[in-house]
Amino acid sequence: METTRADVAIIGAGGAGLRAAIALAQADPKLKIALVSKVYPMRSHTCAAEGGAAGVIKADDSLEHHFDDTVGGGDWLSDQDAVDYFIGEAPKELIQLERWGCPWSREANGSVAVRPFGGMKKQRTWFAADKSGFHILHTLFQTSLQFPSIERFDEFYATELLREDGRVAGFTAIEMRSGQMRRFDARAVIICGGGAGRIFPFTTNGAIKTGDGMALAYRAGVPLKDMEFVQYHPTGLPSTGTLLTEACRGEGGVLVNRHGRRFLQDYGMGPETPLGRPVLKTMELGPRDRVSQAFWQEQQKGNMIPTQWGDAMLLDMRHLGEAKINERLPLVRDMSISYMGVDPVTDPVPVRPVVHYMMGGIHTDLKAATPLPGLFAAGECACVSINGANRLGSNSLTELLVFGRRAALSAMEYLQSGARAASESALATGADAARGRLRELLQRTGGKETVAGLRREMMHTMEANAGIYRTHEGLAEACVKLADLRRRYRAIELHDKTNVYNTDLLQALELGSMLDCAEAVAQCALARKESRGAHQRLDFAARDDRNFLRHSLAVFDPGASPRIEYLDVVITKSQPGVRDYSGGHE
Ligand SMILES: Cc1cc2nc3c(=O)[nH]c(=O)nc-3n(C[C@H](O)[C@H](O)[C@H](O)COP(=O)(O)OP(=O)(O)OC[C@H]3O[C@@H](n4cnc5c(N)ncnc54)[C@H](O)[C@@H]3O)c2cc1C
Repeated sequence: METTRADVAIIGAGGAGLRAAIALAQADPKLKIALVSKVYPMRSHTCAAEGGAAGVIKADDSLEHHFDDTVGGGDWLSDQDAVDYFIGEAPKELIQLERWGCPWSREANGSVAVRPFGGMKKQRTWFAADKSGFHILHTLFQTSLQFPSIERFDEFYATELLREDGRVAGFTAIEMRSGQMRRFDARAVIICGGGAGRIFPFTTNGAIKTGDGMALAYRAGVPLKDMEFVQYHPTGLPSTGTLLTEACRGEGGVLVNRHGRRFLQDYGMGPETPLGRPVLKTMELGPRDRVSQAFWQEQQKGNMIPTQWGDAMLLDMRHLGEAKINERLPLVRDMSISYMGVDPVTDPVPVRPVVHYMMGGIHTDLKAATPLPGLFAAGECACVSINGANRLGSNSLTELLVFGRRAALSAMEYLQSGARAASESALATGADAARGRLRELLQRTGGKETVAGLRREMMHTMEANAGIYRTHEGLAEACVKLADLRRRYRAIELHDKTNVYNTDLLQALELGSMLDCAEAVAQCALARKESRGAHQRLDFAARDDRNFLRHSLAVFDPGASPRIEYLDVVITKSQPGVRDYSGGHE
């Protein structure tokens, strides 16, 4: 088997992976860094981010405000030491991007422009029109090209972590072009594999967001944390699930029901504010969990507009005028016209909540270290946790930068502490076993199940039972179904048994990752008998700090459903309080 030897190997070349690679290369030019990605780096999901990245920069803002918004927005499930570190590093990282060439939008006086974002009570979201992720990823990618020590392995799919003596030793990956398996030996591994929104059928997430990074760590014994917290973004296009960024509302767009009424005032996010004024704290700039839940409530009352893709509300941006829409929201205009046939300059755009982001992920500490020595994780696949029960829009792009770098520094510290390379025999045995499992899947005959069939059933189960509002009955049904799907997964048969760009094989492996993640979501949601942030139970409607001010940890069991454990939340200075989004104009 071909082998690549590196000091640090990174799985994932999106925002988090590239930031980690750059930090390693800068810290020590002699380090050998392998950057492995199942897609060309610029095709990572970070590229699709629209609205912007949060970091305190303006005189009327402060780190305390960013802390309070993040912790309150997360319904007090965030670890406050992690939030403190995050908000302090955030402006430095955004300025660093500027120096590497990121074209942040500007105020008329030349200073960096910021826009309001949901749940952020001050303006602190830096943006590059509504193509922020594209520009951030491009900036990181072109910067990474300066460093000869970063060796890229594009279109390599990581399949299993290798371990020796209770620490990570590397991983195996399939080279998609040849179908050959390659061994990556590394003293430290950083997973930056992105989210898992594709476990649901209606999502803003690109097709590659299948939770592979989470599953790699989970199967190697690292718990997944807070998986029940799945974020719905209120404004997806009903036809495709394509996102219309929160910046639409940050720039002044409003949401109305079928009666033309701005309904958020009825759900603790009022009072109604005048059109066209930049307004923080209230109405359309309520946090995503609350706005999505208000949609569901209005739908129950029959106040939504039926469309051929289900019920929708209307996002009205007409009062912003064509010039502002073209300057600040050009992509939103393009996408509304292309995917819905609606021009926001002349008509309101139908939108509905759509699965967007996983607050949960690989359990890491403040230093981005997992409990498995030598293994680190950062970005959407990780749960540090700064996002708690509900992420505020624009904190994620900054999180990639802050914790991508942090993971790199921690990996360096780990190497300097004398971490040894694993033995050849352990690596060879592990890699051969991984190749054997892959061959068995590829050559299997007589299997009764198909990838597409199981995937469809999984998505349907998640949508029906683990959506915006949940109940014991629905979640219990989902858990039974998902356990059954995992069992049936062992009987899938591939149509394509060839080696070159075998997408059938890759989709089968991705389905395996998704089933593991979906089961962790459903099991953690069933066990959490309270409502907090994005996890809302109709049968346990109140937040229960006495019993559930704790992180959930799902521990993998190959033959059974995961074991659920709990971990205390780190509270340093903000005691749990009431999340108040009513009143207060700025
Ligand atoms: C449409 C959209 C808009 C968004 N807008 C915003 C916004 O405005 N502001 C904000 O803060 N957040 C936003 N988000 C969220 C944010 O963009 C993501 O959370 C973030 O970009 C994830 O970055 P990442 O580096 O963790 O992962 P990604 O960018 O998803 O990259 C994952 C990487 O892992 C690799 N990978 C995965 N599995 C494997 C495997 N098995 N083997 C090898 N490689 C693998 C992939 O190839 C890829 O390179 C948005 C998200 C979406 C979907």
